[in-house]
Amino acid sequence: MEKAKGKSSDLLEKVVALAKRRGFVYPGSEIYGGFAGFYDWGPLGNELLWNIEQAWWRAVVQNRDDVVGIRAATLMNPKAWEASGHVKGFSDPMVECKKCHHSFRSDEEMKTCPECGGKEFAKPKQFNLMFKTHVGAAEGSESVAYLRPETAGGIFVNFRNVAATNRLKIPFGIAQIGLAWRNEINPRDFVFRTREFKQMELEYFVRPGEDEEKFKEWVKERFAWYRSIGLTNVRKREQEKKERAHYSKATTDIEYEFPFGWQEIEGIANRGDFDLSAHAKASGADLTYFDEGAKERYLPYVIEPSAGVERIALALMCEAYTEDGERVVMKFHPRIAPVKAAVFPLLANKPDLVKLARKIYEELKAHSPQLSVAWDDRGNIGKRYLSQDEVGTPFCITVDFDSLENDEVTIRDRDTTKQERVKIDELRGYFTTKLKLTTS
Ligand code: ATP
Repeated sequence: MEKAKGKSSDLLEKVVALAKRRGFVYPGSEIYGGFAGFYDWGPLGNELLWNIEQAWWRAVVQNRDDVVGIRAATLMNPKAWEASGHVKGFSDPMVECKKCHHSFRSDEEMKTCPECGGKEFAKPKQFNLMFKTHVGAAEGSESVAYLRPETAGGIFVNFRNVAATNRLKIPFGIAQIGLAWRNEINPRDFVFRTREFKQMELEYFVRPGEDEEKFKEWVKERFAWYRSIGLTNVRKREQEKKERAHYSKATTDIEYEFPFGWQEIEGIANRGDFDLSAHAKASGADLTYFDEGAKERYLPYVIEPSAGVERIALALMCEAYTEDGERVVMKFHPRIAPVKAAVFPLLANKPDLVKLARKIYEELKAHSPQLSVAWDDRGNIGKRYLSQDEVGTPFCITVDFDSLENDEVTIRDRDTTKQERVKIDELRGYFTTKLKLTTS
C-alpha cells in the first residue's frame, strides 16, 4: 500500500480536490469568485471540526478536575486590546511591490516580487492584523471595536469572575473554543492561514515558581493528545529567545509536517504574569489571588496552550490521505472520522432488507451522540465502499438475505477491507470497542 508521504509535492492539491469533491471544504463565497482567506466548511468538514473540538474539550476540560470552560463575547471593550498590547503591536511587517502593488508579509528582506518579478519595493511598514468594526449607530473613532484576534483576552478579563464563582484553587485553568479573526497579509496554503478561524485556548494559572514544571507538563500532555487523535508526523520545537514575545519565559511549538514543510499547529507559552498584570493596570481591577495554602497573595503566572481547529483539520486530512491502487482512503482515527459507520441494505428494492437496515441505522444513531452514521442504498456495494473509504468511514455494515434468517450483518473494515459477520444485538458493543470512543 502506498502511503502519500508528507513531502509528496501534489499531496496538498489532492487533499484540496477531495475536500471540495466530498464536501469537506469549499472556497468562501465561491459563486462570487471567492473571498481570499475565507473558507466554508461543508457537512463532512463540519463533522471533522466538531470531532476535533470535542476531543480537545474532553481532554482539556471534562476529563480534568482543575479546568473549567467559558464562552466569552467575541467583541470586547477596545480598552482590553489596548491593555494587551494588540492595538499597538499585533502587526506583521509588510512590503509593497512598486510595480504590481501587491503587498507581502516580509519577515526577511524581499528581493524579488513573487507576483510579477519586480525588484523595487516601498519602505516596509507594520500592518496591524486586527479587523476593525463599529459598535452602535455612530461611526466615529469613539465607536471603533476590534474583532478578537485570539480568544485568550476573553479569559483574562474573566479571571476574577470565574475564580470567585467556582471556588477554584490554584493551579487551575480556564478554557475556551471560539472564533478569531486576523487580517492576514497573505492568507495561504488552503486552510492553514486564513482570516477567520477557530482557536482552542487554555489559560492555566499557577503560583509563580511552579510555572516551569507546569509548562513542561502541558507540553507533554498536549503532544500526547495529537497522538491520541491519530497524528504521527508531529514534533516539538522550542522557540529560541529571539523568536519569543518579550514577556514569554518559554514557548514550545507543536509542529506538523505539512506538504509545504514543518509548521506550527499549536503554541504552548509560559507567559508569566504579563496578561493579568497588564489588565490589572489598565482596568484598575485587583486581579491578585489569595493562596490559602501558601498564605500569600500574588498575581498568578499563566501557561497558555493555544491551537487552531482548522489547522489541525488540515493536518489530519494530509495525514489521512492514502492511495491504495484505485482506492483513495482517508485513514482518519475513528474518534475523528466524520462518519463512524455506514449502513447499507444489499439491494435497495427489497423492502425486507431496507426495513431491517433502517432499523439498525436508527438504533446506531440513537446509541450515542458521538456516532454519526450514514445511510447509503445507491449503486452496488463496491461503489458504496469506495465512496465511504474516500471520506474515511471506518466501518460499513451490510444487511443481506442471510441477515433476515440469522440476525447477523457483514461489517467491512476500511483499512484492511476484511469482512466479518456480527450479531445485530452485539453491534453497539462492537462499535464502542472498535471506535475507541472511550479513550481520552
Ligand atoms: P503564525 O506565526 O503562523 O502567524 P502565530 O504564532 O501568530 O501563528 P498564535 O497566535 O500562537 O499563532 O495562534 C495559536 C494557533 O492559532 C496557531 O498555532 C494556529 O493553529 C492558529 N492560527 C493562528 N493564526 C491562524 C490563521 N491565520 N489561520 C488559521 N489558524 C491560525
